[in-house]
Amino acid sequence: MPSLSVFGVQWGDEGKGKIIDRLAADADVVVRYQGGANAGHTMVVDGEKTVLHLVPCGVLHPGTKNVVANGVAIDPIQLLAEVDGLRERGVEVTGETLRVSSGAHLIFEHHRQMDRLSEHWLGDGRIGTTGRGIGPAYADKASRVGLRVGDLLDPNRCRTRLSAALAEKNATIERVHGAQPLDLDAELESAVALGDRLRPFVGDTGAEVRADYRAGKRILFEGAQGIMLDIDHGTYPFVTSSNTGTAGIPAGAGFPPGHIDRAIGIAKAYCTRVGEGPFPSELAGEVGEAIRAAGNEYGATTGRPRRCGWFDAVAVRYGLALNGADGWVMTNLDVLSGFDELSVATAYVVGGELTSEYPAHPPALDGCEVRYETRPGWEGDISGLRRYEDLPENARAYVEWVEELVGTPIVMLSIGPDREQVISRGL
Ligand code: GDP
Repeated sequence: MPSLSVFGVQWGDEGKGKIIDRLAADADVVVRYQGGANAGHTMVVDGEKTVLHLVPCGVLHPGTKNVVANGVAIDPIQLLAEVDGLRERGVEVTGETLRVSSGAHLIFEHHRQMDRLSEHWLGDGRIGTTGRGIGPAYADKASRVGLRVGDLLDPNRCRTRLSAALAEKNATIERVHGAQPLDLDAELESAVALGDRLRPFVGDTGAEVRADYRAGKRILFEGAQGIMLDIDHGTYPFVTSSNTGTAGIPAGAGFPPGHIDRAIGIAKAYCTRVGEGPFPSELAGEVGEAIRAAGNEYGATTGRPRRCGWFDAVAVRYGLALNGADGWVMTNLDVLSGFDELSVATAYVVGGELTSEYPAHPPALDGCEVRYETRPGWEGDISGLRRYEDLPENARAYVEWVEELVGTPIVMLSIGPDREQVISRGL
């Protein structure tokens, strides 16, 4: 498989970190192409847990190249802290194994401040961001006032660009929000120092990855967040600020669309969502609580409890179709053990019409009626099983039923957080 796009099909937290870490064993290069440190990817290898926010999930495989491409919004402090943390644990991170695009946009303190201040002003319309400055950094990118990694390496250019950006941001912070402005000299000094530390990793990652592809290297594109949080195709405005699926790769990594050879989605056996916004199959009561407890559904980045609900076949079908996926991985099947019955959202009633299509205008989902079908559950811990035929009959029936509802093959099942806890169905 020369190049493979792996992306989340729901609202993020689908267990991408674990699956990408596993698939990275067969990859030469792992590329992050969008999002920022709001995504937390968790990997468990031999019981040891690693949570990464910016460094791609191939880093635990010695010799694999990990690329933070131009489409990622990089918080340099966070990125370097992750590098330090990995090195302290004996993971090799060098200018060969970690590559950072000179074209990636940067997140500064003023972005974090603006993120928090604007959320506060939105009141009930707040988006529920992680407050890490990612939205404001992408806004600056689109407004053409952002700074990119390459700018940090040139102190004069950095001073000119940062002074201009900060003058305007400080005026807003002070006069609109009534908060304390930032000190330009201190910000500059810190930016240049961060640039010096980043320098060994920085390059033209687009050109490097294209050359790797031409040389026959296996490239894995690591999506962050999920399709339902895509800025164009998700539940706008309750979305993240980038294109979260395969469509984000060409722009976000400088990689030709026609060279993306395969796309595979990742979805949980149920649904979760962090933050505000439409979530048709949400379970507000006891069953939702039970899923949260069984799946330990609390955010890897913020610790926030995740909203939980039944698997939504309408949303997953939409996400897979949008990205041209020919297979998907169902994660967290183990979490559903012990429920008497399991339901799946199979259709919505939108504006009085029954539909199995995801609506183009997400506000249509507000208060929409969801149609469910239900099947019996199963008992017992399935996390130690490795063969499909060993799963309880009702677990297999659930998997095959959901696969049929979604209409795309399930190529792997994940039945626990550890790298080894999978059942292959072709992948
Ligand atoms: P990501 O953002 O998609 O990488 O997902 P997160 O790392 O935020 O959340 C996934 C959580 O579920 C992490 O704590 C993982 O260790 C864990 N996890 C991943 N796959 C499975 C699985 O199949 N079963 C269970 N029980 N936990 C899993």
